[in-house]
Amino acid sequence: MDAEHMGADLENVLFTEEEIQGRLAELAEQVWEDYKDKDVLLVGVLKGAVMVMADFMRALPGTAEMDWMAVSSYGSGTKSSGVVRILKDLDTDISGRHVLIVEDIIDSGLTLSWIRTNLESRGPASVEICTLLRKPEAAKVDIDVRYVGFEIPNAFVVGYGLDYAEKYRNLRVIGTLAEHVYS
Ligand code: 5GP
Repeated sequence: MDAEHMGADLENVLFTEEEIQGRLAELAEQVWEDYKDKDVLLVGVLKGAVMVMADFMRALPGTAEMDWMAVSSYGSGTKSSGVVRILKDLDTDISGRHVLIVEDIIDSGLTLSWIRTNLESRGPASVEICTLLRKPEAAKVDIDVRYVGFEIPNAFVVGYGLDYAEKYRNLRVIGTLAEHVYS
Protein backbone atom coordinates (compact mmCIF):
# COMPACT_ATOMS: atom_id res chain seq x y z
CA MET A 1 0.00 0.00 0.00
CA ASP A 2 1.42 3.36 -1.05
CA ALA A 3 0.80 6.78 0.46
CA GLU A 4 -1.56 7.68 -2.40
CA HIS A 5 -3.78 4.67 -1.58
CA MET A 6 -4.51 6.24 1.82
CA GLY A 7 -6.27 9.20 0.25
CA ALA A 8 -7.47 11.70 2.86
CA ASP A 9 -6.77 9.28 5.75
CA LEU A 10 -3.05 10.14 5.64
CA GLU A 11 -2.08 13.47 7.15
CA ASN A 12 1.70 13.54 6.67
CA VAL A 13 4.47 11.28 5.44
CA LEU A 14 7.26 11.28 8.04
CA PHE A 15 9.60 8.77 6.38
CA THR A 16 9.69 7.39 2.85
CA GLU A 17 10.74 3.83 2.00
CA GLU A 18 14.17 5.09 0.94
CA GLU A 19 14.70 6.96 4.21
CA ILE A 20 13.68 3.90 6.24
CA GLN A 21 15.95 1.55 4.25
CA GLY A 22 18.86 3.99 4.42
CA ARG A 23 18.67 4.30 8.18
CA LEU A 24 18.23 0.54 8.70
CA ALA A 25 21.35 -0.08 6.62
CA GLU A 26 23.31 2.30 8.88
CA LEU A 27 22.01 0.59 12.01
CA ALA A 28 22.81 -2.85 10.58
CA GLU A 29 26.38 -1.80 9.87
CA GLN A 30 26.80 -0.45 13.39
CA VAL A 31 25.26 -3.56 14.99
CA TRP A 32 27.45 -5.86 12.90
CA GLU A 33 30.56 -3.99 14.02
CA ASP A 34 29.52 -4.07 17.70
CA TYR A 35 28.68 -7.79 17.61
CA LYS A 36 31.52 -8.94 15.37
CA ASP A 37 32.85 -11.47 17.90
CA LYS A 38 29.40 -12.43 19.20
CA ASP A 39 26.62 -14.66 17.97
CA VAL A 40 23.68 -12.26 18.20
CA LEU A 41 20.07 -13.44 18.57
CA LEU A 42 17.55 -10.97 17.17
CA VAL A 43 14.27 -10.90 19.10
CA GLY A 44 11.30 -9.24 17.44
CA VAL A 45 8.13 -8.14 19.13
CA LEU A 46 5.02 -9.05 17.12
CA LYS A 47 3.35 -7.72 15.18
CA GLY A 48 4.68 -4.20 14.70
CA ALA A 49 8.35 -5.19 14.28
CA VAL A 50 7.76 -7.59 11.36
CA MET A 51 8.82 -5.12 8.64
CA VAL A 52 11.73 -3.71 10.66
CA MET A 53 13.06 -7.20 11.39
CA ALA A 54 12.72 -8.33 7.75
CA ASP A 55 14.61 -5.36 6.35
CA PHE A 56 17.08 -4.90 9.22
CA MET A 57 18.28 -8.51 9.20
CA ARG A 58 18.63 -8.54 5.42
CA ALA A 59 20.80 -5.43 5.70
CA LEU A 60 23.25 -7.32 7.97
CA PRO A 61 26.39 -8.41 6.09
CA GLY A 62 26.26 -11.91 7.64
CA THR A 63 23.86 -14.40 9.17
CA ALA A 64 21.94 -13.99 12.44
CA GLU A 65 19.20 -15.97 14.18
CA MET A 66 15.80 -14.51 14.92
CA ASP A 67 13.01 -15.33 17.33
CA TRP A 68 9.70 -13.69 18.18
CA MET A 69 7.60 -12.73 21.17
CA ALA A 70 4.08 -11.43 21.21
CA VAL A 71 2.84 -9.29 24.07
CA SER A 72 -0.28 -7.28 24.60
CA SER A 73 0.20 -3.68 25.66
CA TYR A 74 -2.29 -1.76 23.55
CA GLY A 75 -5.94 -2.42 22.86
CA SER A 76 -7.21 -0.87 19.68
CA GLY A 77 -6.75 2.61 21.13
CA THR A 78 -3.68 4.83 20.94
CA LYS A 79 -2.41 4.96 24.53
CA SER A 80 -0.14 2.47 26.30
CA SER A 81 -1.84 0.73 29.20
CA GLY A 82 1.38 -0.40 30.89
CA VAL A 83 -0.20 -3.80 31.33
CA VAL A 84 1.93 -6.41 29.60
CA ARG A 85 0.99 -10.01 29.03
CA ILE A 86 2.99 -12.61 27.05
CA LEU A 87 0.81 -13.97 24.24
CA LYS A 88 3.64 -15.90 22.56
CA ASP A 89 6.97 -16.65 24.19
CA LEU A 90 10.37 -17.24 22.56
CA ASP A 91 11.18 -20.69 21.15
CA THR A 92 14.85 -20.19 22.04
CA ASP A 93 16.59 -20.72 25.37
CA ILE A 94 18.45 -17.40 25.68
CA SER A 95 20.71 -18.29 28.62
CA GLY A 96 24.26 -17.24 27.73
CA ARG A 97 23.08 -15.60 24.47
CA HIS A 98 23.61 -12.05 23.25
CA VAL A 99 20.06 -10.80 22.66
CA LEU A 100 19.19 -7.78 20.55
CA ILE A 101 15.53 -6.76 20.78
CA VAL A 102 14.34 -5.35 17.45
CA GLU A 103 11.42 -2.95 17.87
CA ASP A 104 9.32 -0.72 15.71
CA ILE A 105 8.59 2.09 18.16
CA ILE A 106 9.13 3.11 21.77
CA ASP A 107 6.51 5.47 23.12
CA SER A 108 6.20 5.46 26.92
CA GLY A 109 8.83 2.71 27.08
CA LEU A 110 6.66 0.71 29.49
CA THR A 111 6.31 -2.28 27.19
CA LEU A 112 9.97 -2.56 26.34
CA SER A 113 11.28 -2.04 29.84
CA TRP A 114 8.99 -4.87 30.97
CA ILE A 115 10.21 -7.13 28.12
CA ARG A 116 13.84 -6.35 28.84
CA THR A 117 13.49 -7.17 32.55
CA ASN A 118 11.69 -10.38 31.65
CA LEU A 119 14.45 -11.45 29.20
CA GLU A 120 17.23 -10.45 31.61
CA SER A 121 15.77 -12.79 34.22
CA ARG A 122 16.52 -15.75 31.87
CA GLY A 123 20.32 -15.43 32.20
CA PRO A 124 21.38 -14.06 28.81
CA ALA A 125 24.95 -12.80 28.25
CA SER A 126 23.50 -9.39 27.26
CA VAL A 127 20.26 -7.69 26.25
CA GLU A 128 20.29 -4.57 24.06
CA ILE A 129 17.55 -2.73 22.18
CA CYS A 130 17.33 -1.53 18.59
CA THR A 131 14.26 0.51 17.66
CA LEU A 132 13.39 2.20 14.40
CA LEU A 133 11.40 5.00 16.07
CA ARG A 134 11.47 6.65 19.46
CA LYS A 135 9.15 9.31 20.83
CA PRO A 136 10.38 11.99 23.24
CA GLU A 137 8.35 10.63 26.13
CA ALA A 138 10.47 7.47 26.02
CA ALA A 139 13.42 9.51 27.22
CA LYS A 140 11.65 9.96 30.58
CA VAL A 141 11.77 6.25 31.32
CA ASP A 142 14.99 4.74 32.58
CA ILE A 143 15.56 2.50 29.59
CA ASP A 144 18.87 2.26 27.81
CA VAL A 145 18.25 1.99 24.07
CA ARG A 146 21.52 1.42 22.24
CA TYR A 147 20.27 1.80 18.65
CA VAL A 148 17.64 4.35 17.56
CA GLY A 149 16.64 4.91 13.94
CA PHE A 150 14.71 8.16 14.21
CA GLU A 151 13.46 10.37 17.03
CA ILE A 152 9.91 11.44 16.17
CA PRO A 153 7.45 13.99 17.56
CA ASN A 154 4.74 12.92 19.95
CA ALA A 155 2.13 11.91 17.37
CA PHE A 156 0.46 8.61 16.57
CA VAL A 157 2.10 7.10 13.50
CA VAL A 158 1.12 4.23 11.20
CA GLY A 159 2.71 2.23 8.40
CA TYR A 160 5.72 -0.04 7.99
CA GLY A 161 4.27 -2.53 10.48
CA LEU A 162 2.59 0.03 12.75
CA ASP A 163 -1.19 -0.16 12.90
CA TYR A 164 -4.27 1.71 13.90
CA ALA A 165 -6.84 -0.92 14.97
CA GLU A 166 -4.89 -3.51 12.90
CA LYS A 167 -5.04 -1.39 9.76
CA TYR A 168 -2.28 0.30 7.71
CA ARG A 169 0.54 -2.10 8.69
CA ASN A 170 1.15 -2.66 4.99
CA LEU A 171 1.61 1.02 4.20
CA ARG A 172 5.13 1.37 2.73
CA VAL A 173 5.85 4.75 4.32
CA ILE A 174 5.51 5.93 7.92
CA GLY A 175 3.02 8.72 8.44
CA THR A 176 0.45 10.34 10.67
CA LEU A 177 -3.30 9.76 10.39
CA ALA A 178 -5.83 12.47 9.67
CA GLU A 179 -8.00 13.50 12.60
CA HIS A 180 -11.23 12.17 11.03
CA VAL A 181 -9.91 8.57 11.16
CA TYR A 182 -10.02 8.59 14.99
CA SER A 183 -13.41 10.21 15.33
P1 5GP B 1 4.97 1.91 24.93
O1 5GP B 1 4.77 0.87 25.99
O2 5GP B 1 6.43 2.21 24.64
O3 5GP B 1 4.20 3.17 25.23
O4 5GP B 1 4.28 1.37 23.60
C1 5GP B 1 4.81 0.33 22.90
C2 5GP B 1 3.90 -0.18 21.82
O5 5GP B 1 2.79 0.68 21.59
C3 5GP B 1 4.62 -0.22 20.50
O6 5GP B 1 5.33 -1.42 20.34
C4 5GP B 1 3.48 -0.08 19.52
O7 5GP B 1 2.88 -1.32 19.31
C5 5GP B 1 2.51 0.82 20.24
N1 5GP B 1 2.67 2.23 19.84
C6 5GP B 1 3.26 3.23 20.52
N2 5GP B 1 3.22 4.38 19.84
C7 5GP B 1 2.62 4.10 18.65
C8 5GP B 1 2.30 4.88 17.48
O8 5GP B 1 2.58 6.08 17.35
N3 5GP B 1 1.68 4.22 16.47
C9 5GP B 1 1.35 2.89 16.55
N4 5GP B 1 0.75 2.38 15.49
N5 5GP B 1 1.63 2.12 17.63
C10 5GP B 1 2.27 2.72 18.67
